[in-house]
Amino acid sequence: MESIRLVSREYKPEDTVVTVGNVKIGGGHRAYIAGPCSVEDEGQILEIAELISDCAHILRGGAFKPRTSPYSFQGLGEEGLRLLVKAGSSFGLPVVTEVLSEAEVELAAAHVDMLQIGARNMQNYALLKKVGAQSKPVLLKRGFAATMEELLLSAEYILAAGNSQVVLCERGIRTFSGSLTRFTLDLSAVPILKQLTHLPVIVDPSHGTGRWNLVEPLAKAALAVGADGVMVEVHSHPQEALSDGPQSLKPDKFRALAAELNALAQFLDGRSGGI
Ligand code: PEP
Ligand code: MN
Repeated sequence: MESIRLVSREYKPEDTVVTVGNVKIGGGHRAYIAGPCSVEDEGQILEIAELISDCAHILRGGAFKPRTSPYSFQGLGEEGLRLLVKAGSSFGLPVVTEVLSEAEVELAAAHVDMLQIGARNMQNYALLKKVGAQSKPVLLKRGFAATMEELLLSAEYILAAGNSQVVLCERGIRTFSGSLTRFTLDLSAVPILKQLTHLPVIVDPSHGTGRWNLVEPLAKAALAVGADGVMVEVHSHPQEALSDGPQSLKPDKFRALAAELNALAQFLDGRSGGI
């Protein structure tokens, strides 16, 4: 790929390590990002943060939500940011949240540890430039109709604007999977991206599948193909969630998954040479 420069392995052969609060991602450091799709109220986010605080590394929670329908819950906005930060600091977890527009970047960057650019905004170039011009790390999700080249070029925008703390996230693409999965999780993107770029690559099996009972096998598969971590949606009462309940794990299920991922990571790290 000729058109990528700063994100390419040719330009920088060694893995980039992205630091989010006190958590490292990349260069052999794996991180589990977990939390609800949306911050709904104080009790909800505090309860989830407490229950996952010893097995997740970073707490997620949407305050500004990119919903397909304008009539769906749009997030708590600034109040959601405040509650997310309170939950993270109460239980020692750095926090990540999505920004939808340039207008939200400064406010969010002043409070959270990492800014997320969602799939629907992967090619919002003004937004990419804006998050590139500030210093908080960025989680850049692949658009669901975007090629890997386009994802890398979107990351290039952020690096070109001055911010090299970028984590890429495969979160599923549109194919012809029908109604059994929400998207098709493109796990081949992980080793391909890691060959082409020094940036860390994580996988979101929650949005990638849309079904909670597919999250565990695909999270494991993600680590097995070399992902630097996973992002998993967790909710204490998925049936009552204001967004993405069907793909959310209950906290105890996430805890069990994290333990299994730790064991898998140990195996992968201990392995010398090929399988
Ligand atoms: C999210 O992570 O909350 C989200 C909206 O994901 P995506 O942008 O991948 O759809
Ligand atoms: Mn979601």
